[in-house]
Amino acid sequence: MTLLKNYINGQWIASSASEQLLVTNPATAETLAQVPLSPAAEVEQAVQAAAEAFVQWQRVPPTERIQFLFKLKGLLDNGIDDIAQTITLECGKTLKESTGELRRAIENVEVACGIPTLMQGRNLENISRGIDEFMFRQPLGVAAAIAPFNFPAMIPFWFLPYAIACGNTYLVKPSEKVPLTMQKIFALIDQLELPPGVINLVNGGKATVDALLDHPQIRAISFVGSTPVARYIYSRAAASGKRVQCQGGAKNPLIVLPDADMEMTTRIAADSAFGCAGQRCLAASLAITVGAASQTFTEAIAATASSRKVGNGLDPDVQMGPVITAESRQRIEGLIQQGIEDGAKAIVDGRNPKISGSEQGYFVGPTLLGDLEPDSAIANTEIFGPVLGLMAVETIDAAIALVNRSQWGNMACLFTSSGAAARKFRYEAEAGNIGINIGVAAPMAFFPFSGWKDSFLGDLHGQSDHAVEFFTQTKVVVERWPKEWSRRF
Ligand code: NAD
Repeated sequence: MTLLKNYINGQWIASSASEQLLVTNPATAETLAQVPLSPAAEVEQAVQAAAEAFVQWQRVPPTERIQFLFKLKGLLDNGIDDIAQTITLECGKTLKESTGELRRAIENVEVACGIPTLMQGRNLENISRGIDEFMFRQPLGVAAAIAPFNFPAMIPFWFLPYAIACGNTYLVKPSEKVPLTMQKIFALIDQLELPPGVINLVNGGKATVDALLDHPQIRAISFVGSTPVARYIYSRAAASGKRVQCQGGAKNPLIVLPDADMEMTTRIAADSAFGCAGQRCLAASLAITVGAASQTFTEAIAATASSRKVGNGLDPDVQMGPVITAESRQRIEGLIQQGIEDGAKAIVDGRNPKISGSEQGYFVGPTLLGDLEPDSAIANTEIFGPVLGLMAVETIDAAIALVNRSQWGNMACLFTSSGAAARKFRYEAEAGNIGINIGVAAPMAFFPFSGWKDSFLGDLHGQSDHAVEFFTQTKVVVERWPKEWSRRF
């Protein structure tokens, strides 16, 4: 069985890890590879390579640095089908979802190609008589990303292209559950002929992460994952003086008003709740209906949930794949059970689906739970599976109040045909990503991925100008050149 390697200083290197984990196809439970849990010594090796590479890389003109990104975009475009296949194999989502994820990754490469403009500073002549002031942006040094399992290609690309385009050198620590996608992508990175050490890959788990968090030469950490781990990473990395941005968990609500286009709303809400088997940080997890929308939406979404085709994501007819592990399936089924015991009504119960030809896979079918109590555990716990809870209220104000009492603030969406309702919601909803007649309000790469509340710790988000700011430090220069000196020449 293949034991995956790390990519350090421009070379594939076998890990000396004493512990390995199995990488499993969640649709079949077949083992795909083994991933090493790299020890601190290998993090050290990668950091030293990145630190040495930084000395020259920061001096390479931005216009030259981005030539590597143009080349990477071409390689990713050409490799999209092959990499999408790998994402589906190890992560379970459908091929269409995997391809969509890769398009979002590539989009970040495209945006980072604008670094010669995006990285510019500003200046003002004559801040005082004969004195000018300039603000430059300079890279930080070595930075690292710690990624979750659910978007193995896209999420490291919220950071990596910006980091290196700004002149930093980089380390990626993928999720140990889905390390194969980065193996494929680093095979392309290997073809770029970048100076060795500019981009490195270190596989591993908690001990590997801890070594990154504590390393004095790593200047910035970008983390995406669950909120409890985000809190841990944020405080431990900050304790060693690093910049940190941590995107955490979510429990995303949709509000459905009675004037919404019910056919469109149902289709979009179902894609949001059940797409990627609900394992999206922007998956809808609660639908709050207002007034008469309760009956129409509940009937329509129940029909859509029951008819969704679940199976192996490699099958082009399949609309929803498995969840990531057997433990995940057990946790999700346990939460459904607890929800029912707490009074929720199982309108569609997706537990124990029979998937012909994939009997060993970790499947949970689309599940719809009605009559959720606002204080119940199921209404307040991130499920990260294909489960949509329903709550009914009588006014938009009551619905917005339910949205705003949440500890999370990753996304909130409204379905309506009223501009005034949309405007009110856009202004009042306490979430960083807002959808109006949109079910997955994922910001394009040229906007920041703006989580709020417990969905984000830090100040600068991933993607766009936020990423450029995160990966640079400002240098202000105040200059005086007395005019008398010019007479010397
Ligand atoms: P996770 O927190 O379990 O793991 C994320 C990363 O942290 C992995 O690389 C893992 O190796 C590492 N890690 C896990 N436990 C650790 C520990 N105790 N100490 C140090 N490192 C540790 O998350 P996951 O299950 O891979 O991903 C799902 C979660 O990510 C969900 O909560 C989801 O909402 C969230 N997510 C958020 C966003 C966002 O943009 N806000 C995007 C995607 C996923």
